[in-house]
Amino acid sequence: MAPLIIPIFLPNVGCRDRCLFCNQKASAEGLLPPSSVRNFIEASLAGIPHNKKNREKQVAFYGGSFTATHRDNQVHYLEEVQPFLASGLIHSIRISTRPDALDEEVLSLLKEYGVKTVEIGTQSMIDEVLMLANRGHEAEDTISAASRLREWGFEVGLQLMISLPGDSFVRFLQTLDQVIDLKPDFVRIHPTLVLKGAPLEILWRAGRYSPLSLEEAIQWLKRGLLKLERSSIPMARIGLQPTKELERDFLAGPFHPALHQLVDSEIFFDMATSLLDLFDGKLEPIFFCHTTEISNMRGQRNGNIMRLREKFQLKDIFIQGREDVPKGSLVLQTQKGDISIHRGELRYSDRRIEGRGYLLNYNTQESM
Ligand code: SF4
Repeated sequence: MAPLIIPIFLPNVGCRDRCLFCNQKASAEGLLPPSSVRNFIEASLAGIPHNKKNREKQVAFYGGSFTATHRDNQVHYLEEVQPFLASGLIHSIRISTRPDALDEEVLSLLKEYGVKTVEIGTQSMIDEVLMLANRGHEAEDTISAASRLREWGFEVGLQLMISLPGDSFVRFLQTLDQVIDLKPDFVRIHPTLVLKGAPLEILWRAGRYSPLSLEEAIQWLKRGLLKLERSSIPMARIGLQPTKELERDFLAGPFHPALHQLVDSEIFFDMATSLLDLFDGKLEPIFFCHTTEISNMRGQRNGNIMRLREKFQLKDIFIQGREDVPKGSLVLQTQKGDISIHRGELRYSDRRIEGRGYLLNYNTQESM
């Protein structure tokens, strides 16, 4: 089970420059000083509901490049967590940082202070995309940081973004191939959003950048998620957490508070399409899926049902939950017996994958 995170946001801490997509501001006002960390953790622990008290608890320093800030500053923050680690109230620490700020000296410090998990702001493995995003590091920095972190026994998470300037669907898939080779413990993927105050806003207003639509982002993310699942790499999160700051600053892009669920629903739509392509039976098919996945199969506001009815000219569709259907599988009842597909068996062929454009086409022979 994933640990319960107590997040401490340190906006822009350690950042040398401003990334193209970032609108965080280094402000003393929003920054929790080390002296307030203890109170913050105590208040957070007190607010944990009773049924979650036994979960592993991790303090996470997010929001900047933790290990790129001055060593003394890192020590001040990490010191404040030590009494909680010693008492067992907190089990470990997580930090997020940039890949070129993880040398041996830094890793030694993190080990000494009980850091277990390091999330690397990778964003893309395409150097041109990193350069256009003003990241100030290259893909090679992620490769060497991930291997050093592994040698030192850290848990490694990679944060990726899709559709930054210069990115494309093909480049995203190439990025994932390289990411899979690094064998991270988990991955997060966020679509690029245009936020007020980010340098990207200027490009967007000048018509020099347009974000993906929500539908396009779902198609990219669906393929990315399935690719990672086939390599047994967990997806920690898809899309940014909805916060009041995001709501205030959001200008354009594929934001949705339940993006991961939309992606899962799209995968169910593809599985259902794949089964119905093989089925020339009645007008009211009956599907079975795991009980916990009925809403994914139905889609938001029954969207999948409506699309499938229209696509296959069906009178109605019935979906029933069954505990014995494995999660990620879909079963279609036919007169000749049940036919099923697991999401891992979906195969896609891309006819036009240059730039942003791509055309999805099933190969059901391959799927089944
Ligand atoms: S995206 Fe992260 S690394 Fe880049 S400027 Fe913002 S906080 Fe710093």
